Amino acid sequence: MGFATDAIHAGQWADPLSGAVMVPIYQTSTYKQEGLGNHKGYEYARTKNPTRTALEDNLAALEKGAVGFAFASGMAAINALMSLFSSGDHFVVTANTYGGTFRLFDKILTRFGMTFDYVDTSNLEAVKGALKSNTKMIFVETPTNPLLTLTDIAQIAALAKQHGSLLCVDNTFATPYRQRPIELGADFVVHSTTKYINGHSDSVGGILVAREASWSEPIHFIQNSAGAILGPMDSWLTLRGIKTLAVRMDRHESNGRAIAQFLEDDSRIDRIYYPGSRDFPQRELADSQMGSYGAIVSFVVKDIDRAKLVLERFRVFTLAESLGGVESLVCHPAVMTHASVPFDIREKLGIVGGLIRLSVGIEDIDDLISDLDQALSV
Ligand SMILES: *Cc1c(COP(=O)(O)O)cnc(C)c1O
Repeated sequence: MGFATDAIHAGQWADPLSGAVMVPIYQTSTYKQEGLGNHKGYEYARTKNPTRTALEDNLAALEKGAVGFAFASGMAAINALMSLFSSGDHFVVTANTYGGTFRLFDKILTRFGMTFDYVDTSNLEAVKGALKSNTKMIFVETPTNPLLTLTDIAQIAALAKQHGSLLCVDNTFATPYRQRPIELGADFVVHSTTKYINGHSDSVGGILVAREASWSEPIHFIQNSAGAILGPMDSWLTLRGIKTLAVRMDRHESNGRAIAQFLEDDSRIDRIYYPGSRDFPQRELADSQMGSYGAIVSFVVKDIDRAKLVLERFRVFTLAESLGGVESLVCHPAVMTHASVPFDIREKLGIVGGLIRLSVGIEDIDDLISDLDQALSV
């Protein structure tokens, strides 16, 4: 089946009681048992819930993995993944990975004896150089936030395999509509479903998909033991969001292209970060790996004072963190999402005071462009 068909049907079933076409919200903590040891496979809802299972099966299918597990947030999914490993294990991680991921690794997991090296994973040699005998997994985020640096997944997957380590890709920005890391050789995919997957900015959640069915038992053991499950209502909301993922992404992307085109020749900005722009250094990789450029567009104005003035003028774009919802958002990475990154590292990465990031929504493009135009006219 095609992606849009799977998005709507994979893992879904009509309710056996009523025939309801949509999987119901099984808002229950426990299940009646017919007799001792005689139940329908459901005992307690931390362990298993039908609404959550419908979401997990759906996302496993979309990511072309064998199994999926849904968690209370993207961070909870990443934490569950890391619980598969042990003290003494080493990991190579994309530099400028999501701030919450860095915080989890650097501030919590290092206390449990795990070690991490953060390297530019777009540079194969840098990744090679960081591998150690105890490197158990490479953790890649592509594209990154907010500068959209790409990593060649197939290349890193081959390297990981050769070295005998696993590969996980945070696929939050690209979505399985455009990028399926497991097909490129990754062992795990994680998502913050909070972003494009749910797409309506009304739920926080995460998913961990594994390539091999042999991961099912160990991951379910962690999900059930640590208990950071996604609730039935959020599972249902996320499922509802997924049904329109393909059409939403098409619109997000065409709006993103139009916004980037508008900005590219605008003398009021200094530079643009967008995988489809003329001088984006990895445009070829964007074409081959994603076949699209997404809908995150970052650009730089003169300095932070000018950025502040511009940000105050937006009327349709809302000043907020997060991304991937139907509504257009604007944020200032240096002050908002990346404030915890030390100033000199930020500047080195390119997250400067004049940098503004747009998450382009699916509103009418004329309204978005005129809003951006008037905001820049300060
Ligand atoms: C938001 C985000 C996360 C964390 O997800 P939460 O749902 O906020 O916990 C992880 N990775 C990326 C790339 C994200 O954008």
